[in-house]
Amino acid sequence: MHAVKSGSRAMRFNSTRAFSSAPRFQAPPALSINSNRLWETLHQTCEWGQAHRYGDNATETGMARLTLNDDDARVRRWFAEEVKKLGCTLSVDQMGNMFARRAGSLNSPAPMIAMGSHLDTQPRGGRYDGILGVMAALEVLRTMKESNFQTNYDVGIANWTNEEGARFPKSMCSSGVWAGAIPIQQAWDLRDIHNPNVSLKSELERHGYLGDIECSAKGYPLGAHFELHIEQGPILPANDCKIGIVQGAQGYRWLTFTIQGKDAHTGTTPLANRHDPLLAASRMIAASNDIAKKHDALASTGIIRVPSNASTNTIASEVTFTLDIRHPEDSVVHAVQEECLRTFQSIASQDGKGVSYSWTLDTDSPAVKFDQNCISSIQAAADHIVGPERSMLMTSGAGHDSVYTSKHCPTAMIFIPCKDGVSHHPTEYSTPEDCAIGTQALLEAVVNYDQARADESRGK
Ligand SMILES: [Zn+2]
Repeated sequence: MHAVKSGSRAMRFNSTRAFSSAPRFQAPPALSINSNRLWETLHQTCEWGQAHRYGDNATETGMARLTLNDDDARVRRWFAEEVKKLGCTLSVDQMGNMFARRAGSLNSPAPMIAMGSHLDTQPRGGRYDGILGVMAALEVLRTMKESNFQTNYDVGIANWTNEEGARFPKSMCSSGVWAGAIPIQQAWDLRDIHNPNVSLKSELERHGYLGDIECSAKGYPLGAHFELHIEQGPILPANDCKIGIVQGAQGYRWLTFTIQGKDAHTGTTPLANRHDPLLAASRMIAASNDIAKKHDALASTGIIRVPSNASTNTIASEVTFTLDIRHPEDSVVHAVQEECLRTFQSIASQDGKGVSYSWTLDTDSPAVKFDQNCISSIQAAADHIVGPERSMLMTSGAGHDSVYTSKHCPTAMIFIPCKDGVSHHPTEYSTPEDCAIGTQALLEAVVNYDQARADESRGK
């Protein structure tokens, strides 16, 4: 809904964070990722944590690889071995974030260009969310190594701890600590949702992943961050596109409304005499949907609560409900909120003797704009691999580690289609072809960006 099909391919370069002028991308090197190896590696590593079988094929299961459980520790140890085989140095920070680094030809001490995502899953998750991003990054490094190809600057992989926030309830947890948005003590103290005796920190210690590098953009700085991810939505297939060039993440605000009425007998109280909070809340929720439609935004109520002693023949005394407003532009998020508040005000006096209400703002997450040079690097890769007609600019509807990395280094994301837009579900699926296209795009985007970065430093 918020994706914009990119008709014009004119490149704009607003950001001067990394480059002083528009990079010109040279012909990409003749590097092709190995699609079979990628596919086999991805599913081989899903043996650690596979769950929820839904079909006869070996790969037809979902995943339950919760952060820092034994299977997560196994895949981490495997990952550490694999990147060492590629000649990478591996660093682990205080949140267990893993950074694998492959030297570039310049021997520059500048921060590496990272390809990052996460290896943890939801308890009823799939085989692609996060996992693909890390396995694709590994495939990129394997391809570079076997082709004796060296980037100018160091490149590498970031495996971010506890992106899902399923076992330890804080999503994008360790990229959030890295970005300085979440205090490390708060993250360390997170408790296993099923076992309060187990904390995130005690699990880091148990598995040997409590590193000594400070978890921050100073402790392990990154020169850029590219993340390949499944779209988790229906927009790419609906537009017959293979690559989504993600320009940012939409802003959102979460509000809670408390509507105060008065209990009354449903048989003896005429409609005109009622203070009915559930009726008012229903009209408000319906109105928020109309308002969102008008602004091409999203508004959703996920929770509605009535007192637990409510009964069929009594008007409820009080109702609370949540409202989640989203749009790629903060100004639209604010406009939808303002219009909802005005409309709710009039709804409150509309029926019977009216109700009173109050509200709180629980979360305010402004829209994120990714780096124009990273976006252009992906765009050039997409043009080369699938052509301009099969790729599109879009905005991420969900949060990702890249949202946090973008606070401290040039960042952008690549989306590929997933079947029926299904994610956070065992049947989540992307075809081998689409995984390969995304991985090739990741490789070429990183090479493009590295080349432009080197050109810039040489003053071209
Ligand atoms: Zn993810």
